[in-house]
Amino acid sequence: MDVRARIRADGTSVFPRFLDLAYPNVDRGDGVWLTTTDGRRILDASSGGAMVTCLGYGVEEIAAAAQTQAGRIAYFYNHHFTSEPQERLAERMLDVVAPEMARVRFVSGGSEANETALQLARLYHVESGRSERWRVISPAQAYHGSTMATLALSGRPHLQEPYGPYLSPHLHIPPSTWRQDPTGSAALEALDRAIERAGPDTVAAFFCEPISAAALPAYSPPERFWLGLDERRREHGFLICFDEVVTGMGRTGTWLAAHQIPIEPDIVAVGKTLGAGYAPLGAVLCRSHVYEAIERGSRGFDLGHTWDGAPLSTAVGLAVVDALQTRGLVARVRERGPSLLDELREALSGSEIVKEVRGRGFLLGFELVDPRDGESVLPDELDAASLVDDTAFEQGVLVTSTHPQADGFAGDQTLLAPAYVSSDQELSQMVERVAATIADVERTVKQRLGGA
Ligand code: PLP
Repeated sequence: MDVRARIRADGTSVFPRFLDLAYPNVDRGDGVWLTTTDGRRILDASSGGAMVTCLGYGVEEIAAAAQTQAGRIAYFYNHHFTSEPQERLAERMLDVVAPEMARVRFVSGGSEANETALQLARLYHVESGRSERWRVISPAQAYHGSTMATLALSGRPHLQEPYGPYLSPHLHIPPSTWRQDPTGSAALEALDRAIERAGPDTVAAFFCEPISAAALPAYSPPERFWLGLDERRREHGFLICFDEVVTGMGRTGTWLAAHQIPIEPDIVAVGKTLGAGYAPLGAVLCRSHVYEAIERGSRGFDLGHTWDGAPLSTAVGLAVVDALQTRGLVARVRERGPSLLDELREALSGSEIVKEVRGRGFLLGFELVDPRDGESVLPDELDAASLVDDTAFEQGVLVTSTHPQADGFAGDQTLLAPAYVSSDQELSQMVERVAATIADVERTVKQRLGGA
């Protein structure tokens, strides 16, 4: 066993994400606690760092479901066969998670789900005799995945470099945050301009996170924007695709975040919490008119991936949905979310570097600002996001921060996404440790800004 506490690029055969980082070496997880190989216990406030492990670590019933299914049959290609776990999980998704949807396609993760959603939107138009429709309009400050097609769906130049030559020229609108557009009217005007520029008959879909995750934690546009978007869908005939890779499966207190938004998507992608970190799993759900276009048309949506709907991963998904249902965890998130937000707001209320604390269910976040005016984003070179994550680790809590200054729409932000099973005491401890982290970061930031 490799027991080194930290592993650096020059001491590993792994191709790490960042070659200058020394990665802590995780040994095991138990509930919402992580243990590193040097025996440090870290409270996980971001569900595995990527908003995934909604049930916590070491859940025996999920491990047992995986073991049983692996013993029976772990894998078969869904080009040739279907299987009981795939059939039952699809049924359960439509019964429990999204009764408004008609069909489900399983994939292995969020990027695959979004890319499949995009292909489905395109196919819907082609099969309906409108093959000129291909362009997508989406909010710029977003993250939809790391494949070339999904990378093109966000409008963040810094994220897209150096892959620009491979990315389709979709159109983007700025986010309607307090900083740029608090009412949502500028976003609607930008949407109108984008539709005009693309040519209304070429627009296939509007693609967005209904409630944003890491790119703008817990942010959702004002109601006016959603109502305006719905009007434009009716007028121009494009589809609305929701990326619920993070928000799906109860993260914001309802099975889908769409259930809190005054507009019904045509296609929804989920991921992360569907496999809960026990199997790579995602899904695309569509409404009946989307399915029927293909049913009436070519009768094939053949593009797929080797692991789509495999017995092992769908058996895990089924066990996850069972656990969410039998333990009433979506209701727990809905009921506990507002007081968790209050606690976080209260704990950060004295900070001069925190501007807005947002939250929906167990998806929370806050923005960091320059203490010299309480409003501007912090200087890029400070990289306050990394400062927060590193300090939090020292304080024994895992959070996820982003540093998108170079894209021009937002500054440093921190996201909290605790497991749904976190106890009240654990949630309070997370809040305390985050507040201690921010107090520490505030001192460092002020020092670096020259004693402001
Ligand atoms: N969409 C959102 C909102 C995400 O946060 C992510 C990943 O963080 C993805 C899509 C991509 O999912 P994956 O990394 O599973 O491909």
